[in-house]
Amino acid sequence: MAILVINAGSSSVKFTLFGPGGEIVLASGIVERIGTDGTRFKYRSREGAPSDDLVQVSSADEAVGTILAALTHQRHGAIEHITEIAAVGHRVVHGGESLTHPTVIDARVKSIISEYCRLAPLHNPPNLAGIEASERQIPAAVQVAVFDTAFHATIPRHAFLYAVPLHFYTEDRVRRYGFHGISHQYVSDEAARFLQVPVENLRIITCHLGNGCSMTAVKDGCSIDTSMGFTPLEGLVMGTRCGDLDPAAVLHLMEHHRLSPAAMSELLNKRSGLLALAGVGSNDMRDVIAAAEGGDSRASVALDVFCYRIRKYIGAFAAAMGGLDVLVFTAGIGENSPEVRRRVCTGLEEADGFAIVLDAQRNTFASHQSRAIQAESSRVKVLVVPTNEELEIARETLRTLSGALS
Ligand code: ADP
Repeated sequence: MAILVINAGSSSVKFTLFGPGGEIVLASGIVERIGTDGTRFKYRSREGAPSDDLVQVSSADEAVGTILAALTHQRHGAIEHITEIAAVGHRVVHGGESLTHPTVIDARVKSIISEYCRLAPLHNPPNLAGIEASERQIPAAVQVAVFDTAFHATIPRHAFLYAVPLHFYTEDRVRRYGFHGISHQYVSDEAARFLQVPVENLRIITCHLGNGCSMTAVKDGCSIDTSMGFTPLEGLVMGTRCGDLDPAAVLHLMEHHRLSPAAMSELLNKRSGLLALAGVGSNDMRDVIAAAEGGDSRASVALDVFCYRIRKYIGAFAAAMGGLDVLVFTAGIGENSPEVRRRVCTGLEEADGFAIVLDAQRNTFASHQSRAIQAESSRVKVLVVPTNEELEIARETLRTLSGALS
């Protein structure tokens, strides 16, 4: 009995096939740049060498067909027949206020996901296309949706309301939702497991620093606040997104540069963040760090802005939780950049109640395992925890499946 995890985005479909129990990866890969001349299918299974082929795929349906053909291939397939897939776990970005737990997908759930396309126009439509392709081609499997917003459903009203007329919340559903929830949940649980302390007894701040960046305050195992908001644009500085910005500055720029809402959205989502600040022609943190280390003062300032914003949120979230026990770094930058971790924590050595002191050697030690990087004198534990959203989706899918069957 295998579990297939599908993450269908606007131009790619990622997948991982887990064996019985949902912990062992049988095969994984991605169909990327769908609908272009350069669509590629990357596939890796436990048997044989990984492959990377040019394919003709122009829809989520064709992508799922390509994936299933590889998974059941006579030589390098991982299963003999599609009926061995008991359940498919789909990553869905926006479940809004109605879908706050992983859920078996039926017509009602699909119609709610479709309703939330309004709030997540770039993500929910391809997520839905992935679900429908999988329903058509793996009809015997239970389809489960796991939501990126769900972990944040516990954020209290005082932290999710914006101070605008209340009917914009009650009628237009404008509020803080938060994203990256699957990752924040996974790494906070892993941190507790690593420390051998029940997650219910910990105040944790998780820093998911990838292309998109967000932080979450996790108290007693629940998200109580997070840096992303109504959309993934709010909060930290990201690769190409601006993060926190005075709304009056947006209005000012729109008026004085005659920018339409679409043009402004493109500017703030695709042409801001590290890309705009560092001026090195790249939003890749490795390029920004290399330029800063090479003496580029603009890149160095960009790095300062990026790290300062994270430090500011650490203070805010420690205050929100009445203290801090564990700080977790994860995702591409969080897992791999000692320099970012060092800059973020510098200045917190004497912080009252949440003093953070890194051990320089532990911080630079590279590993793919969870590890502690704080010094003996640190009040707060600082962990690097590799995120694994696919595994979290597989686990949630299994839990939902056993709930549905019992
Ligand atoms: P995504 O949000 O697309 O899943 P990832 O979690 O893979 O992104 O993170 C991508 C980011 O991680 C890129 O900005 C890249 O620069 C950064 N990154 C990867 N390796 C390193 C490294 N060794 N040092 C600094 N940044 C890194």
